[in-house]
Amino acid sequence: MDIHEYQAKNLLAKFGVAVPRGGIAYSPEQAAYRCQEIGGDRWVVKAQIHSGARGKAGGVRVCSSESEVLDAAEFMLGRKLVTHQTGPGGKLVGRLYVEEASDIAQEIYLGFVLDRTEERVVVVASAAGGMEIEQISEEHPDTLIRSVVDPAVGMEPFQAREIAFSLGLDAGMIPQAVKTIIGCYKAFRDLDATMVEINPLVVTGAGDIVALDAKMSFDDNALFRRPEISELRDKSQEDQRETYANDRGLNYIGLEGKIGCIVNGAGLAMATLDMIKMAGGEPANFLDVGGGASPERVLKSFRAVLNDPEVEAILVNIFAGINRCDWIAEGVVRAVQELELKIPLVVRLSGTNFEEGQKILDDSGLNIVTAGSLAEAADKVVSAWKAGA
Ligand code: GDP
Ligand code: MN
Repeated sequence: MDIHEYQAKNLLAKFGVAVPRGGIAYSPEQAAYRCQEIGGDRWVVKAQIHSGARGKAGGVRVCSSESEVLDAAEFMLGRKLVTHQTGPGGKLVGRLYVEEASDIAQEIYLGFVLDRTEERVVVVASAAGGMEIEQISEEHPDTLIRSVVDPAVGMEPFQAREIAFSLGLDAGMIPQAVKTIIGCYKAFRDLDATMVEINPLVVTGAGDIVALDAKMSFDDNALFRRPEISELRDKSQEDQRETYANDRGLNYIGLEGKIGCIVNGAGLAMATLDMIKMAGGEPANFLDVGGGASPERVLKSFRAVLNDPEVEAILVNIFAGINRCDWIAEGVVRAVQELELKIPLVVRLSGTNFEEGQKILDDSGLNIVTAGSLAEAADKVVSAWKAGA
């Protein structure tokens, strides 16, 4: 699960990371009020969406008067901000964060991720942070600092000092940098995060170290024991199809194509997506109905797939081991009837109780195309979709 920048900053501040003073705003008037509350004469208005690269997309504006803040807020609120991370649909700006502006002398990159090969938390840092970090990491990967944390001892002060010195910071800034690095690590570990990223972490003109931006993601499987984190969820930032399906206990990921997929097993589901592509189509989703899928669960899966208005054909691909083809077939028949399915449907069943399942489909009298192999099923669904499109 992702959270907003201001939420990440609030969490990190509790772990000793210095952040600028700021406040949330849901309207231009509130944004202007925040300026008075914060004081000073320069503020930054920042669109709160679950995406980075807002600066390049007009979602971060430094302002020198309240009327500029009002204008920026007016411009951003209610808009769909398209960054190179959001996809063409963009993300809706429903809230803003207004902060005191910082005087930036240097922008540093500081990231904490779980490295699955190392099976460790890895710190990545760069003295050249800011909006061009992706380009720098591609063109000069050798300038990135990498430091692996031993889980048995955690991040120790000497390790944080080593990172701070590698960044070329002046001796006087080392204690603040160490506090920041250790604070981020503790937040990562204690809150079951999967990612903490501060870009930029700035050195101010006065020589202070401040987190100007903050991003955190959390392990969904640990949310049950982090109620204070799960309440930060903002469903408006999620793919609505995924929210719908995941709230109903389905393992669903939204994609860009037109062919809806209902498959059992994550591996078979991935293979099905590949086969659809090879047959010349584009899948609309990944959906693993799981083992032992009852007719109700199949019906629920159809609802989730059809909840995507782009879907123009459906492929059901089941290799029944724990599953039973007759249950699946029963669910398919009920779905076609109850949901009054009008788009092409191809079903491939294989494995336990295959004959019973096939018979249910045949006897239904419904317009269901069946297929023996996955390749045949993919070809048939793509042809049926092209014929209808
Ligand atoms: P992102 O583009 O979504 O990563 O948003 P950031 O919060 O990182 O802001 C983008 C850029 O805006 C930063 O890299 C800074 O260069 C600039 N910026 C953000 N806050 C301030 C500020 O307080 N003062 C100044 N001068 N620039 C800022
Ligand atoms: Mn940033």
